[in-house]
Amino acid sequence: MSANSLPENIAAWHTLEVDEALELLSTQADTGLAPQEVNSRLQKYGANELEEAGGRSAWEILVDQFKDIMLLMLIAVAIISGVLDLVAWRSGTLPAGEIPFKDTIAIMAIVILNGILGYIQESRAEKALAALKQLASPNVRVIRDGNTLEVTAKELVPGDIMLIEAGVQLAADGRLIEESNLQIRESALTGEAEAVNKHAKKPLSEESSLGDRVNMVFQGTEVLQGRGKVLVTGTGMKTELGKIAEMLQSVEAEDTPLQQRMSQLGNVLVTGSLVLVVISIGIGLLMGGNFIDLVEVSLSMAVAVVPEGLPAVITVTLALGTQRMVRRNALIRKLPAVETLGSVTTICSDKTGTLTQNKMVVQSTFVGKEYFSVSGEGYAPSGEFLLDERTIIPEEYPEIPPLMVACTVCNDAILQQEKGEWKILGDPTEGALVTLAAKAGFEKDQWDTKLPRASEFPFSSERKRMSVICQVEEVETGFSPIRDVDPQISNLLADESHLMFTKGSPEIILSLCDQVFLGGNSVPLTEEQRKQILAANNKMAGEGLRVLGFAFRALAKVPSEASEKEVEQQLVWLGLTGMLDAPRPEVRAAVQESRDAGIRPVMITGDHQLTARAIATDLGIANGGDRVLTGQELQRMSDQELEQNVDLVNIYARVAPEHKLRIVKALQNRNKFVAMTGDGVNDAPALKQADIGIAMGITGTDVSKEASDMVLLDDNFATIVSATKEGRVVYTNIRRFIKYILGSNIGEVLTIAAAPLLGLPDVPLTPLQILWMNLVTDGLPALALALEPAEPDVMKRPPFSPRESIFSRGLGFYMIRIGIIFAIITIILMMWAHSHVQSVGVNGLSPERWKTMVFTALCIAQMGHAIAIRSNSRLTVEMNPFSNPYVLAAVTVTTILQLMLVYVPPLRGFFGTHALSLSELGICLGFSALMFVWIEGEKLFLRIIGKKSV
Ligand code: ATP
Repeated sequence: MSANSLPENIAAWHTLEVDEALELLSTQADTGLAPQEVNSRLQKYGANELEEAGGRSAWEILVDQFKDIMLLMLIAVAIISGVLDLVAWRSGTLPAGEIPFKDTIAIMAIVILNGILGYIQESRAEKALAALKQLASPNVRVIRDGNTLEVTAKELVPGDIMLIEAGVQLAADGRLIEESNLQIRESALTGEAEAVNKHAKKPLSEESSLGDRVNMVFQGTEVLQGRGKVLVTGTGMKTELGKIAEMLQSVEAEDTPLQQRMSQLGNVLVTGSLVLVVISIGIGLLMGGNFIDLVEVSLSMAVAVVPEGLPAVITVTLALGTQRMVRRNALIRKLPAVETLGSVTTICSDKTGTLTQNKMVVQSTFVGKEYFSVSGEGYAPSGEFLLDERTIIPEEYPEIPPLMVACTVCNDAILQQEKGEWKILGDPTEGALVTLAAKAGFEKDQWDTKLPRASEFPFSSERKRMSVICQVEEVETGFSPIRDVDPQISNLLADESHLMFTKGSPEIILSLCDQVFLGGNSVPLTEEQRKQILAANNKMAGEGLRVLGFAFRALAKVPSEASEKEVEQQLVWLGLTGMLDAPRPEVRAAVQESRDAGIRPVMITGDHQLTARAIATDLGIANGGDRVLTGQELQRMSDQELEQNVDLVNIYARVAPEHKLRIVKALQNRNKFVAMTGDGVNDAPALKQADIGIAMGITGTDVSKEASDMVLLDDNFATIVSATKEGRVVYTNIRRFIKYILGSNIGEVLTIAAAPLLGLPDVPLTPLQILWMNLVTDGLPALALALEPAEPDVMKRPPFSPRESIFSRGLGFYMIRIGIIFAIITIILMMWAHSHVQSVGVNGLSPERWKTMVFTALCIAQMGHAIAIRSNSRLTVEMNPFSNPYVLAAVTVTTILQLMLVYVPPLRGFFGTHALSLSELGICLGFSALMFVWIEGEKLFLRIIGKKSV
């Protein structure tokens, strides 16, 4: 059957036998589809994608823009100003040459522009988040053309044979072909939190509800345990999840703590300005002022107090922050993480793959009573076994072959050669074992056929072991080629028909053994031998090796699914393997950097305490003598006891995922701000609980990625540290331009309020001029300040609390102080300029130009402010002006624009400015420069008295 005649709308795949379903989709369980067929089905059914649903509609995003309280106040100002103009126009009192409704139009234009900008940014942000989600979207293991390969979820088509295992989030709907211990959580679909046991076997009745279709698996659900082979029956919008698209989780565009603080700030500013308006109108009236004039002053004040440019600058800064982080391999999934990352005090990191390279090579084995070392590098299956530095032939030692068989069959990894390089598909720990066995001449392919797997008890981080049950005898004929012909197996079998091989944490495996395989036979395990084995384990672990123990048991039949407790005992010990997983070279420096930055790295691993200590000491996470807390000890501790210990312990070993949750909570109760890494399904609760949950991009399960705030694309600890640094830079820059913008706003408001109180005839600044300042002459340099590179000491100081107020550490005081200085400088200039234009009549120049001098001085003073505020402690002369060329460019462009407003006639007409003489312009520049001088003076003063500025 070709793609065109596929059954389109079979809703009842669960009623079919596996063979019927395979036939209907013209595919085969062992070989899957051929590439041409995949292509034609891809064309017919489209990519396996869900159409985005559930997010806000474009219209809703647009309407949301106008709900901001500051924009609402601006709209009110526009209306009042329009009414005033209308009255003046009707009564003929509008000054000659004045364009009516200019301020109203300008303010409304700004409101609309702000709305549109916000709209564009937010819809971009939603799209970007969706794209990021895509980036983190999973690969799927499929069988095509007889080969096992990984494809992206998008490329799945109906008829594909998909392999699933614990940790996977399903990418399509499908009929189970076979399964082992498969448990799936279907809450995404059915709302039912309980895991469902799945069974491939029998067809079900047509009426079975979704939750009862145990022979089917569904897109979006999560594999908690076991494995399975699935025939893909539905992709894209044709899946059960696709059908109920409205239930889809939309991409979450959460407000960052900063955005929340900003809306609080908006409330404070709006209330504050209303209070100011009432006060100044009141005082003005008492002083005999004209009501309409006073209303105009109030309107200007209201416009001046709103930092119109701020929201845009903040959004751009956060967006640039996420981009910089992605370039450093840290993918932000939840926006708040961008700025809160800088506050991390403790990084709890997994060992394998994050601190180490996760490229395993078995270096030694302890079998029988001997240590054998193994040569060779990487996954290439070439190397030798050595005893006391002499090469040996493994088969000559009767204990080695069964261990090698265990390494090959109790194993799910696939060793492949790609372009001459040996690679591994699956878990690197297992890959190293396939390589080891191949070095001894035991090929996995051959042994998988000789000892086909009949059942298994899968690995989990809680159990720290796995077992496979292999069939040895052909049940029907009673003849076994292996039993009768293969001496390597016949000694293991006794009279049974099945062999179970178990591997895992050596202490656990050994505790399940009562015999040991020695000299070709199983003999009782003595206490002496037990001690020897544990000593060998400690010796290898102490060298930083990851040690696994192996055992076997002969069984009469395939055990039932939930019987591991009874079956995984009375095992026969086979031996130990010790593999090297070298630390990542860049981690040592990253650990040091985080320590300097007041961040404590903590290792949390499932591995042995001695292995953990050796690697932690090597990396500088702990000192040789530091205490290691094991999962067992942790288990015995109460939450309070754990809290008393968390500040002291830097290494947790042999922990299970549920311990991670307790560790995070204990740290948080000690007021720590915790970043926690994780990769497994069961790490998800700890990742959610952590302040920053970090999932692994390469080895992480889909479930852990879903639960995380950030995904490490390279699984590397050093990436966490560099993301933390970026977080600090973003937060410092945000605080920097808030200081910059709000300081000037306060200066403007005070200057405007002072004018009528000091008896000046008019408001110095019109709403239009104020908008110009807040948006353009403040906005451009603020954007440039957002690009300020890291200060040299950014990772040399302790982290700041994420809960600190925006005004903390002197920022509020700075704004008020600088606002007042700003106002004092401008008010002095204003008074001087007003009397100057009265006394000096320059030909052709307007007597109104004192206002333009105030306007110009305010704008240019902000240029000096922008240059000086680049550093809190370093003087401008001590900084490289080109380390942030954007500030230089913004200052130059803004100054030119401001001069154009004063000297280009049409612009002058529109903005209500007046030309200044050269000496007047010089005086404006002189006054403006005072701002720069003041801030530099402050830095110098603080340096002299030995205090740090904010
Ligand atoms: P980390 O938490 O730092 O990544 P880890 O990889 O050692 O450390 P787990 O994957 O939970 O943590 O493994 C815990 C223990 O289980 C290992 O130390 C090892 O003894 C055992 N183990 C790991 N992988 C397997 C496997 N594939 N089969 C059997 N046992 C395993």
